Amino acid sequence: MKILISACLLGLSCRYDGKSKEDAALIESLKGHELIPICPEIFGGLPTPREACEISCGRVVTEKGTDMTAEFRKGAEECMRLARILGAEAAVLKDRSPSCGVGAVHNGRFDGGTIAGDGFTSAALKRAGLKVFSASDVLEKGIE
Ligand code: SF4
Repeated sequence: MKILISACLLGLSCRYDGKSKEDAALIESLKGHELIPICPEIFGGLPTPREACEISCGRVVTEKGTDMTAEFRKGAEECMRLARILGAEAAVLKDRSPSCGVGAVHNGRFDGGTIAGDGFTSAALKRAGLKVFSASDVLEKGIE
């Protein structure tokens, strides 16, 4: 299966803090699939490192209140374009991110808490009909 995957989970240093979040167990569990790395925030035109962002009242903002919603929307559109071009059927995305979170995202208060919801790219890929999994779900239950 062709699977979009958050690039930071593969070990690429594309996170807001300039670091990666490599997950060797996750990569091992996806052996045999064709993995397509994506980073919606970079695709949306943001630099690395960058200010942390969270979803608040349907917008994406930095802790200082700068609105980054347009960049996050663009990142989601670019991921959808890639999914269409390459025929991806599923996505495995980083937990809690305002782009990649699946089922839970940071709560907009920058206090480490989460609320129910999807990141901008996860929501867009779900609407486009892809099977969208969080990394933690795949580690727990597998992808099939
Ligand atoms: Fe990882 Fe997604 Fe954040 Fe990019 S946008 S660093 S892929 S969680």
